[in-house]
Amino acid sequence: MKSAIITGITGQDGSYLANYLIKKKIKVFGILRRTSADPLERLEYFGIKDKIKFINSDLSEHQKITTIIKKIKPTYFFNLGAQSFVTFSYDNPIYTDNINNVSVINILESIKNFSNKTKFYQASSSEMYGLNESNEKKLNEKTHFNPISPYSIAKLSAYYYTRMYRNSYNIFASNGILFNHESPLRGQQFVTKKIISNLVRIKFNIQKTPLVLGNIYSRRDWGHAEDYVEMMYKILNYKTPDDFVISSEKQYSIKEFINMVCDKINLKIFWSGEGMQEKANIKNGKTIIKVSKKFFRPSDVIYLLGDSSKARKYLNWKAKKTISYLVSDMINYELNKIKINVKNKKM
Ligand code: NDP
Ligand code: GDP
Repeated sequence: MKSAIITGITGQDGSYLANYLIKKKIKVFGILRRTSADPLERLEYFGIKDKIKFINSDLSEHQKITTIIKKIKPTYFFNLGAQSFVTFSYDNPIYTDNINNVSVINILESIKNFSNKTKFYQASSSEMYGLNESNEKKLNEKTHFNPISPYSIAKLSAYYYTRMYRNSYNIFASNGILFNHESPLRGQQFVTKKIISNLVRIKFNIQKTPLVLGNIYSRRDWGHAEDYVEMMYKILNYKTPDDFVISSEKQYSIKEFINMVCDKINLKIFWSGEGMQEKANIKNGKTIIKVSKKFFRPSDVIYLLGDSSKARKYLNWKAKKTISYLVSDMINYELNKIKINVKNKKM
């Protein structure tokens, strides 16, 4: 039986990937770190908690990770675990580098020494492109990287280590350079989830305070996590190890995303002002969206648009889910949450 170790199994991608692999009858091992809250919420969403073999560890626990690899010798190792929030990385650069970079070297060393047939997937990120010389072209595997945050610098180092182990030691080690991908299970701090959960609550008068954001003019290429985890699997099943950009090839600003959400939930808004004074009101004059310095980053990647022609050609890649589907999927999840809360209060 084929087996897979997933780090980051409790996260957005980890839970979608675990669900995908279990359907393929692959035995899934998940690295689970101790947290004070219940970390298995996302896996419960798919009802697969009991189908996973959890192993308690942390990516920084290098000896333990090595022992796990040595013992299981998995067919696949998907390294999705990371300190994944760019904003947090500015305040915690050393921690971020330890988890997003040093722990990757440890995994690769362990595979090289104890399980050299294991196929390794590294969750690389479009953030590695950083500030490009051109804010017009699509970014692909050949585009120059120019990372600007501790998060993306660490990710870029891990990206190069992955290539180094492939080229120097013949390890099947591949990078997926994934552009932003979202879903109902996206972490609360990320901008799409924050926008949708706040606006749905405002629409139904559950939330009285405005949605406060940072730079609403940065542009992202957003896809659906369910589509993207399938590509992780395809990347490791390609005939040779390689690096692939996975993106939707469409781009919107945060402000355009907000307008899309408002349209879908039938919330009419009126934008006014500029810079820190920019805001959106509803008909009765109440401000429901504001901009604040608090949510601006020391430096921000303002333009991301991927060119996934290589994945289209060699992996038969095609994003199945549109941005419109993604937004509806995320809205419906929030609406259901509200319904469940109301029902529980009545009981
Ligand atoms: P999430 O933030 O949802 O999940 C991150 C996962 O990493 C969680 O399971 C978390 O565990 C785990 N983790 C964090 N620190 C450690 C640690 N020290 N030891 C063990 N596990 C740890 O991220 P996503 O699912 O969205 O992303 C998956 C990967 O893909 C990440 O590496 C991310 O950087 C990368 N990526 C994501 C993109 C996106 O748009 N989603 C785009 C490009 C790359 P816990 O639940 O305990 O916190
Ligand atoms: P990232 O691309 O991985 O950093 O994903 P995020 O969803 O965290 O951020 C996407 C973009 O939204 C970035 O350019 C942020 O600066 C911008 N943004 C604007 N306001 C906010 C906010 O309140 N929270 C977050 N997370 N991002 C914001």
